[in-house]
Amino acid sequence: MVLRVAVVGGGPAGSSAAEILAKAGIETYIFERKLDNAKPCGGAIPLCMVDEFDLPPEIIDRRVRKMKMISPSNIEVDIGQTLKDGEYIGMCRREVMDSFMRNRAADLGANLINGTVFKLDIPSNNTDPYVLHYSDHSNGEVKGEMKILKVDLVIGADGANSRIAKAIDAGDYNYAIAFQERIRLPQDKMAYYEELAEMYVGDDVSPDFYAWVFPKYDHVAVGTGTMKVNQARIKELQAGIRTRAAKRLEGGEIIKVEAHPIPEHPRPRRVVGRVALVGDAAGTVTKSSGEGIYFAAKSARMCAEVIVEASNNGQRVPTEADLKQYLKRWDKKYGATYLVLDILQRVFYRSDATREAFVEMCADIDVQKLTFDSYLYKTVVPANPLKQMKITAKTIGSLLRGNALAP
Ligand SMILES: Cc1cc2nc3c(=O)[nH]c(=O)nc-3n(C[C@H](O)[C@H](O)[C@H](O)COP(=O)(O)OP(=O)(O)OC[C@H]3O[C@@H](n4cnc5c(N)ncnc54)[C@H](O)[C@@H]3O)c2cc1C
Repeated sequence: MVLRVAVVGGGPAGSSAAEILAKAGIETYIFERKLDNAKPCGGAIPLCMVDEFDLPPEIIDRRVRKMKMISPSNIEVDIGQTLKDGEYIGMCRREVMDSFMRNRAADLGANLINGTVFKLDIPSNNTDPYVLHYSDHSNGEVKGEMKILKVDLVIGADGANSRIAKAIDAGDYNYAIAFQERIRLPQDKMAYYEELAEMYVGDDVSPDFYAWVFPKYDHVAVGTGTMKVNQARIKELQAGIRTRAAKRLEGGEIIKVEAHPIPEHPRPRRVVGRVALVGDAAGTVTKSSGEGIYFAAKSARMCAEVIVEASNNGQRVPTEADLKQYLKRWDKKYGATYLVLDILQRVFYRSDATREAFVEMCADIDVQKLTFDSYLYKTVVPANPLKQMKITAKTIGSLLRGNALAP
């Protein structure tokens, strides 16, 4: 065996990459700085992720079967009526899901290092190793013990503030900032959110995204996001969602406040030399929905599969050109999805008029079916041409009625 791979970051991306590499018998190291990390996140995952990533039922705290879309004028539309028995959006605690996936990769043979990578030395030729400098926390100390590791290939799965991206000069991306409060509700109020998630749109809760109330294990996550990053503004927007949902959150107690960047688009360079970025480090979150868990795991899995193939199960060291195959496959599979969700965000999150139109449109059963199928299964099942035309006509009708197309 020739190939040694370091995966930096033990979130859904890092663990998914490490799992595939370890299964192929490749010498794999996965670094995670905090083994009980609770990534600030809504924790919503699509149904297909449960099967594709073989997640056991106990990972899913709640199975959401109803979703309310709430317009700027507080018109509520129930979506999810088209869901079949057994279909749901999974709600997870990230600390539970992440440690399950990470430990599984370790059980399959990846070397799990509780360490913070703080520097990456880039070799000056195609054959010398990359050198990772890290502090090893396995002695239980935050400062840890300084160590180095030499590898042939690096996967940067270290999230939105990726050090690996900086080390390879991958370039910046725009990002949204998401703010979230965890609120423990009285039992009767929590019962309302048993199987229900809410999405609020309006200038008062976000100028370019949506705000949410998602049910978690024993509390709700209430949050909002915006690309117009501004600390003072985000608190105003959070006050906006708290006001809108005030009645439903009455008697609630804030148990945690968190904020984190969400990438808006891929970085200019996602593969440089023998280093590949995956997940948030690469910028795989979708527009409109702000969904990142599945795409992080999937991008990492696809990257690792390319490494296994190109290295012939670890017998040779892949080149930059080999690694770029991952990007080709990724863009081919999901390019259209990203484009459509980007357009949707630009059209519908533009003003309160377009948001009213958006919520009105969500009342349509065909629109709901299309939306849920593409979210739950990540395959856009084309509706028959007649239905497609109906949906288009309804979209335009909603926009016109809301005077949303006015400049
Ligand atoms: C408030 C909020 C709500 C969200 N809600 C949802 C949602 O409901 N559904 C959804 O699909 N997506 C959601 N997202 C997006 C989602 O959280 C991310 O897209 C996803 O976590 C990306 O996974 P990842 O593995 O790429 O990165 P991360 O989950 O960020 O994992 C990176 C890991 O690397 C570790 N790490 C970082 N640097 C180092 C280092 N130098 N050395 C060692 N380890 C390191 C970190 O500790 C972390 O465990 C939300 C995001 C935010 C901010």
